[in-house]
Amino acid sequence: MFNLILFGPPGAGKGTQAIKIAEKNNWVHISTGDILRAEVSQGTPLGLKVKAVMEAGHLVSDELLIEIMESVFVKHAAAKGFVLDGFPRTLNQAQELDKMLLKLGHPVSLVLSLEVNEEELVNRLLKRAIEQGRKDDTEEVIKNRLVQYHHHTKPLIDYYKEKKLFKEVYGVGTMDDIFLSISKVIEKTR
Ligand code: AMP
Repeated sequence: MFNLILFGPPGAGKGTQAIKIAEKNNWVHISTGDILRAEVSQGTPLGLKVKAVMEAGHLVSDELLIEIMESVFVKHAAAKGFVLDGFPRTLNQAQELDKMLLKLGHPVSLVLSLEVNEEELVNRLLKRAIEQGRKDDTEEVIKNRLVQYHHHTKPLIDYYKEKKLFKEVYGVGTMDDIFLSISKVIEKTR
């Protein structure tokens, strides 16, 4: 089993690349943002709980995310691999993920970070706001999401560097070129 964490700030292109990686390798793509947005649009109890937090660009509680991921691993017990996109986002989530994967007997294989400068990130997120109409892509909320990233998520870089799992790929260029760089790093790690 190969467990890939696709890492990077909002707007780095994790979602687009995660879909391609999962397709190529026959792994399961898990986007916690997509899971949460589906709950919101279906108006489930979980969706109602997280709607305001997401729309403000803040992080949903670790407790809820861990519950979601536990059910993901149960649901996809036969998976050959996972591409995690948007999880973990806090140190607590990373530690809980390690515990969950320990139970499955397959630790994190690789943490791949997409490197994109902040100006490019904001431009991409504003463009996506127009194209996809995401409620959390307004300028104010984008700022919040980047603050959350710097404050809560960036510290994970050191966590995974210590475990010698952290690799970087330059995330600016064509979708295909970036995908090629990612694929090369994955091949080297397998
Ligand atoms: P994303 O599509 O990954 O940018 O996620 C959209 C929003 O969902 C985030 O801004 C958070 O509000 C929430 N979210 C997604 N994944 C997580 C996570 N791992 N921890 C906390 N909140 C999350």
